[in-house]
Amino acid sequence: MAVLLDGNRIASEIRSELVLEVAELVKKGVRPGLAAILVGDDPASKVYVASKTKTCEALGIYSETHHLSAFTTASELLELIARLNDSEEIDGILVQMPLPPQINADEILQAVSPQKDVDGFHPENVGRLALKQPRFIPCTPAGIMELLKRSGIAVSEKRAVVLGRSRIVGLPLSLLLLHANATVTICHSRTPALADICRQADLLVAAIGKPAFVTEELIKPGAVVIDVGINRLSDRQQVMKFFADDDRRLDGFDKRGFTLIGDVDPRGVAAASAYTPVPGGVGPLTIAMLMKNTVLSAQRRIKDKYSLLAST
Ligand code: NDP
Repeated sequence: MAVLLDGNRIASEIRSELVLEVAELVKKGVRPGLAAILVGDDPASKVYVASKTKTCEALGIYSETHHLSAFTTASELLELIARLNDSEEIDGILVQMPLPPQINADEILQAVSPQKDVDGFHPENVGRLALKQPRFIPCTPAGIMELLKRSGIAVSEKRAVVLGRSRIVGLPLSLLLLHANATVTICHSRTPALADICRQADLLVAAIGKPAFVTEELIKPGAVVIDVGINRLSDRQQVMKFFADDDRRLDGFDKRGFTLIGDVDPRGVAAASAYTPVPGGVGPLTIAMLMKNTVLSAQRRIKDKYSLLAST
């Protein structure tokens, strides 16, 4: 029977640890601070930012949200980032993606100070990660590694297959798995014989944004399956296809008009040894790791402060 890897439980464990770390920092005179920048009115982005702010509050982390209009110019945004880079109260800056088309996302991500880049997207931090000298690890891949560790799943010497090579998930996760001594294959939209490669995986990670793409035939019996995908299903017939026996899910669908499904067909995981559900698997860990990176940044700030005092 496949074991369900409960991301909610692990995220809550991490948050409890962070509450203590924040209290420790506050005692030393530093409250960790996170600034979120939201440009435009994308509804999903608003939900993500609100949820990050709420988690900050629950942990005692100071947070501020800068909600800018969809017509904001790149120079206005750069000006705000420069101010936050210099702010004593802010340890982490996150720029919620996507940005409106008039703004070049790469230019913006490069403007965030690498010392406050808690998303780990700045080229300097990407380079450091590649060289196994990470400053900030992108939150979703960091959350997956934490979930594996805390679930007692060893990665070393395993054959890992990562579906997806995005900068925020597939690529950094592949590096982390490689550094943890897995033998890693990265698959993408141009990979031939993808199913054959997946079937060799001891650890199969799906991060492609294609609902229920990974079917039972792609999963080696006994594999660990990590489903990063978050896709909306709003067609009742589709929902019935995947969740006919799941009353709670069907109730939720009837209330909200949609349900979430990952990149893995939930009917296909029975042969796996362990798997992450959607929702409640990888998702909750992403925000928990953002908080962890913010606390880490504040801890570095205090260390710098003390070493500066010691040297004067
Ligand atoms: P992107 O769209 O940035 O990248 C998708 C990747 O999947 C690309 O590398 C693409 O290949 C590859 N791909 C697309 N179609 C196929 C296919 N048919 N076969 C093989 N590879 C394919 O997505 P993200 O990485 O940002 O997100 C992936 C999923 O994870 C989404 O559902 C997203 O919502 C979810 N997500 C969840 C998070 C969480 O907290 N749980 C956080 C971030 C994302 P190519 O490079 O060739 O185009």
